[in-house]
Amino acid sequence: STMKNYIANHNINFNIIDAVGIAGKIGLGGRVNMIMQSAFFKLADVIPVEDAVKYLKAAVITSYGKKGQKVIDMNNAAIDKGVESIVKVNVPASWKTVKDATKELDARPDYVKNIADVMNRQEGDSLPVSAFAGIEDGTLMPGTAAFEKRGIAVNIPEWQVDNCIQCNQCAFVCPHAVIRPFLTSDEDLKNAPKTYVSKKAIGKGLEGQHFAIGISNADCSGCGNCAEVCPAKEKALIMKPYATQEAKLPNWKFNINLPKKENPMGTSTVKGSQFEQPLMEFSGA
Ligand code: SF4
Ligand code: SF4
Repeated sequence: STMKNYIANHNINFNIIDAVGIAGKIGLGGRVNMIMQSAFFKLADVIPVEDAVKYLKAAVITSYGKKGQKVIDMNNAAIDKGVESIVKVNVPASWKTVKDATKELDARPDYVKNIADVMNRQEGDSLPVSAFAGIEDGTLMPGTAAFEKRGIAVNIPEWQVDNCIQCNQCAFVCPHAVIRPFLTSDEDLKNAPKTYVSKKAIGKGLEGQHFAIGISNADCSGCGNCAEVCPAKEKALIMKPYATQEAKLPNWKFNINLPKKENPMGTSTVKGSQFEQPLMEFSGA
């Protein structure tokens, strides 16, 4: 809400562009740099946009000339699309006073609301000394990234329960502890959300339990490492647009609120290590 208030109260022009979508259609994958550069020159008006386009296209020849005509054409198309595809957002008057008032945000620890949030907004210098009363020794609360819920991924993994061989390699490679295996008993599953899926757990010590791969959508960075590493014959993780996975949000809550269980396998194998609690949960990157 702070951002919305600021935009509305300062009459700021707010424009958006679907750079990821455009890059995908052109064939540039996730590479949005050319689209964003030409969009910037169109809006910033520091030099005539026609000149900017001319210089950018000349730079494409210098940077990518050796890679062939197709790459040059794709980058030139990206430059043209960046100029053409900007959408102006009409800022509603209600943004002047809109507030974050969700119960979830209010329920977070005071340290997160009054210090971590402020620092994350790059406004830490404005915090008075009194904000640190009680923590004068410099001890800061750990684990605050778990409250950020940035939702930055364009695509996030979707678990294909039938294809999964329960190796836990996805959890092992995820740099953010976003994708993790969860074990459940018959009793646990009685309270599972409707969209929750699991399968009979395989492996010594896992008898009588159910296995599921859980994904914290809002903490995923969309890097795709998990889907890449998944060794299942038919991939058990497929990257899908963020919005398609929203119905599964309650599953994550269910997973992390499961009764704590002893690690049934020990920590000396890749699979077993991932049944431990990750201590660098959702490191922001
Ligand atoms: S896409 Fe990257 S951040 Fe997201 S769950 Fe997979 S490995 Fe983790
Ligand atoms: S890497 Fe693939 S097969 Fe292995 S646990 Fe993860 S989803 Fe299942």
